[in-house]
Amino acid sequence: MRTLEDLDLRGGPVLVRVDFNVPLGEDGDIKDDWRIRAALPTLNYLQQQNVPCVLMTHLGRPGGKADDRLRLSPLAKRLAELLPTGNVISTREVTGNSVQAQVRQLKPGDFLLLENLRFDPREKHGDADFAKQLADLATVYVNDAFASCHRKDASVYEVPKHFAPDRRAVGLLVQRELAALGQIIDGPNQPFVQPFIAVFGGAKVADKLAAVRALAGRTDRILIGGAMAYTFIKALGEEVGRSKVEDDHLNAARDILKLAGDKVMLPVDHEIEEANGHVLRSTTIPYGATALDIGPDTASMFQQEIERASTVLWNGPMGKIEDERFFAGTRSVAESVARTGATTVVGGGETAEVVRRLGLQDEVSHLSTGGGAFLAFIAEGKLPALSVLAEE
Ligand code: ADP
Ligand code: MG
Repeated sequence: MRTLEDLDLRGGPVLVRVDFNVPLGEDGDIKDDWRIRAALPTLNYLQQQNVPCVLMTHLGRPGGKADDRLRLSPLAKRLAELLPTGNVISTREVTGNSVQAQVRQLKPGDFLLLENLRFDPREKHGDADFAKQLADLATVYVNDAFASCHRKDASVYEVPKHFAPDRRAVGLLVQRELAALGQIIDGPNQPFVQPFIAVFGGAKVADKLAAVRALAGRTDRILIGGAMAYTFIKALGEEVGRSKVEDDHLNAARDILKLAGDKVMLPVDHEIEEANGHVLRSTTIPYGATALDIGPDTASMFQQEIERASTVLWNGPMGKIEDERFFAGTRSVAESVARTGATTVVGGGETAEVVRRLGLQDEVSHLSTGGGAFLAFIAEGKLPALSVLAEE
């Protein structure tokens, strides 16, 4: 895989796919600019090389048409504040004559942020003409959008095909992510990374099962909490009340238990909400009740496992974190992961949000910007957008 330093940047704008898909507040304000900051090493590097840059990203889910609440001008403004020098301009269209004219006027060190890629339905369709129009804006392509690399959208999967292999590369963020996640993929065979403990939680069971299966042979323990645990507990034939279960994946959960059952640790107690609204700790989940967090015994059992690990991978909250009453289990795991001297790799949209909300982002070895991409890379050891980039 080529990196920034391998590129000959003379003679033309650089097209950089970033992932500035930041969380927005009620009135459209940027709630956390972490994902913009994550791209700064690459953007600073390109600015120092004195080349004009065209940046492109998606934001939210506008569904293929313009949506004023998801325009990117506020992101351009924030980026301008974060960069030491240079102009940051944004376009009102994704492609077209006006965009081409704006690109021609760019000066070395300037950034032009294209309007939200997902305003155009052709982005999600991986449309070849759309990709060609984007590619024609520049002579070099850089992918620094790690969190989008599991997709086959035009900007990550089709655009790079229009550049010769020596005219496309990954950015510094993607490099950093691959180095950290590569350790988790390849490292477990090396004695110094053992014991290796994986902690999974959250709700998107379908996305996670493949990652759990891929790690089954290499981990010493797989701790499962969050809504995900109830699919496993139901797969064992136990009562889960009204807890969130993905019935379509009960068989997949059973397969994992067959494959790695001795390594899997499920919650031994829960914070449950009874039908009448009462919240209490319980070792069982009665009919009609909903389990919404791991209980204190489970939290300390998980803590002990994390404490004895040399490597920890964590993805997914332990409970319904949007409700303060069900946040304790996730807080406990976050603090255990932060406290240990082990190599800790953490990923997932909500998981990263929790770590940042608790101010623990500097206490983990690597906090991935990826959610789906993080899981897909662990499951497959590769990502579609990066495979395209690496082709010779
Ligand atoms: P991540 O983005 O970190 O990979 P997910 O998207 O899979 O995590 O899951 C996060 C969601 O899981 C949160 O919105 C949280 O409320 C929900 N969740 C976790 N545990 C439970 C539970 N026991 N019951 C209901 N929802 C839960
Ligand atoms: Mg999520």
